Order: sequence, then C-alpha cells, then structure tokens
Amino acid sequence: WKKLDMSNRSHDELHEMELTFNQMIEYLKESYEKQEMFVSDASHELKTPIQIIKGYAQMLERRGIATPELFQESVLAIDSEANRMNKLVEQMLSLAKNKQLQPSASVDLVGLIDETVKVFNGVSERDIFIEKRRETMTVKADRDQLKQLFYILIDNAIKYSQNTIHIRLLQENRQAIVEVQDYGKGISSKDQKQIFDRFYRVDKARNRDTGGTGLGLAIAKSIAEAHEGELSVNSELGQGSTFILRMPIINEN
Ligand code: ADP
Repeated sequence: WKKLDMSNRSHDELHEMELTFNQMIEYLKESYEKQEMFVSDASHELKTPIQIIKGYAQMLERRGIATPELFQESVLAIDSEANRMNKLVEQMLSLAKNKQLQPSASVDLVGLIDETVKVFNGVSERDIFIEKRRETMTVKADRDQLKQLFYILIDNAIKYSQNTIHIRLLQENRQAIVEVQDYGKGISSKDQKQIFDRFYRVDKARNRDTGGTGLGLAIAKSIAEAHEGELSVNSELGQGSTFILRMPIINEN
C-alpha cells in the first residue's frame, strides 16, 4: 500500500474523502453481513433434511426390517429429503452463478414463453393461456436463465392456485413486459415485501410439503436484475397474484 499524502489537501477535500471511505466501509459491512446471513440461513435449511434422514436411518437400524410398513415409509422419506437437499444445493449454486451472468444472445421472448409453457402442458393438467400483442419481442438475454425465470413464475402459479393461469406479453415504449397471473391464494402486502428474499416462505410448514425452498423468487429476481430488468408483484389475499417482469427490448417490430 502506498501511503496517501494528505499534507496538501484542503479541509473540504479531506472531509469528502472521509465520507466516501465511510460509505465504502458501510457497503462492505452490509455485504459481509448479508453473506453471513446467507451462510447461516443455508446451513439451517440444509440441517433440517439431514436431521430427518438421520432420524429415519436410526429408526431403520433399530426396527426397520421387522416392520415392513416402517421400512417402506423410511425409505420414501429418506429419498424425498435427499431430493430436497439436492434441490436446495442446486438453487444455491444457481443464485451464486446469476451474479456473473452476461446476457448477450438475441432472444425472442414470445418464442421462449411458448417453449416454457409447452414444458408445463406436458406435465400439468392446468390451462395456461398466453395473450400476445406481438409476434416477436427481442431482448438481450441468457436464454436458459431467462427460461428458468419464467419456469419459476409459472411453477409457483400452479403450486399456489387451482385455476387457469394467464400470461400476457406487452410492450410499453422500449420495455418488454411479461405478466404471469393466477387466481389463487394471493399474498398479503406484508408478505409481498419479503417473498423475494432468500429462503422466505409465507407458510413454512405447508410449503415443506409442496417442496418449496423459498429460493425460487430470489433466483427469479437475480436473473431479472442481471438482464437489467425488474420483477415485481401485484397481489391480494384470496384473489390471486400477478408477477410482472419488465426488461429492455432491442427491436420494435
Ligand atoms: P417456494 O420454493 O417456497 O415456492 P419462492 O421463493 O418461489 O419459494 O416463493 C416464496 C414464497 O412466496 C412461497 O413460499 C409462497 O408462500 C409465496 N408465493 C410465491 N408465488 C406465489 C403465488 N403465485 N401465489 C401465492 N403465493 C406465492
């Protein structure tokens, strides 16, 4: 480190430097605290399936073979908890990776949405309607990641509602807008402030059964931001939710 020469700096300059340094320290402190929080939340989330797996393994050791129903139940539970851990680890890696995304390919949003919905049509009975105002809408994107974002929104709409799902593709000035609307349980305004936080789940107990990790929307948000976009929600309890992605468009035809 070169020693900074402060001798011929004016009082104002020194004061400005002090403010800048303080801001930098505050920023570093905040990022460090966020990082620490993430590690602590992640360990906590991973500990639960590990404890369940251990519990079943010990029970199997004690009396599993003699009781076939218990044997069956334990094997299924161990498999399901191992799947949950796998999903958690994959999603954590995905969150870390999104920070370095470089969206550089020209991607047609209309085609990408069609493709994503087709995946769901193959595995879900749910009606998903797509309303398009244009034949194509080109954006700069990392194709797979943007697809993952829509996958998360549609998957949630299916998980947290029972009826039809509407997807709308619009253009406003030079912005592409994609809305994913469901008519399900909705989200209170208090929870709307937190659902994009990592590991946040509105109903923790019930969401464990649906396989929720609380990382989906955090990943969706980080993908949106890496595309210079914005992800937001409009929702009312009991009425349903609309998730809205806005991102810059690169052509206007
Ligand atoms: P999860 O893996 O739990 O679905 P997400 O990060 O995708 O995690 O979502 C966080 C929480 O936000 C969910 O647990 C759920 O409570 C709520 N949520 C997300 N999408 C919807 C939706 N379409 N309708 C109602 N609640 C939702």
